[in-house]
Amino acid sequence: MLKISSFQFNSYAENTYCIYNEYNELIIVDPGCYQPNEYTTLIDFIDEKKMKPVQMILTHAHIDHIYGVNKLCLDFKIEPYMSALEVPVYEMAIWAGELFGTPVDKYEGNFHFIDETSVIKLRNDTLKILHTPGHSPGSLSFYDATQNWVISGDTLFLNSIGRTDFPLCNHNDLISAIQNKLYQLPDNTTVYSGHGHPTNIGYEKKMNPFVKAN
Ligand SMILES: [Zn+2]
Repeated sequence: MLKISSFQFNSYAENTYCIYNEYNELIIVDPGCYQPNEYTTLIDFIDEKKMKPVQMILTHAHIDHIYGVNKLCLDFKIEPYMSALEVPVYEMAIWAGELFGTPVDKYEGNFHFIDETSVIKLRNDTLKILHTPGHSPGSLSFYDATQNWVISGDTLFLNSIGRTDFPLCNHNDLISAIQNKLYQLPDNTTVYSGHGHPTNIGYEKKMNPFVKAN
């Protein structure tokens, strides 16, 4: 059975998630660590629970979700997994970091590419991958069907939806990803978003001011 812990990092208040099993094997999701104390917070959590990071997965490659990719991959000898459609988004994040004066520690290693035909496995547990584009072309959501939760990246938030005013965003794609993928999950599915508090599918289908259920 997977457990999930969340951390809020960097000036964008991004949510980084740790998913781990009873053997203390751990997947790091969207490492937004930027300041030294943010790395310390995450690494202390991992050390105190004697966890072994085995994989890193990215919902998407915007700057606030990828600051920690390089250091954590090198430190823990793991490699990042994301959609191939996020390669130009990652390159843009490097450029944006220079532009905003918050340079990204660029990862020069190997990215593994995943899509809806792939599965994230942590020993006996699996996460289903949903392609939920719109906020970025290769945005992915990670769904635990056993315990009914989904990590939605910046696609769906409590009472809100992802921005689509950045390059490579597509508003219609976002709306249809929410209606046709996320809103098809059971109403009691907990949604862990890339920013802000968790919510659930049933609540958003009724109350989300931007996207109602079909
Ligand atoms: Zn984003």
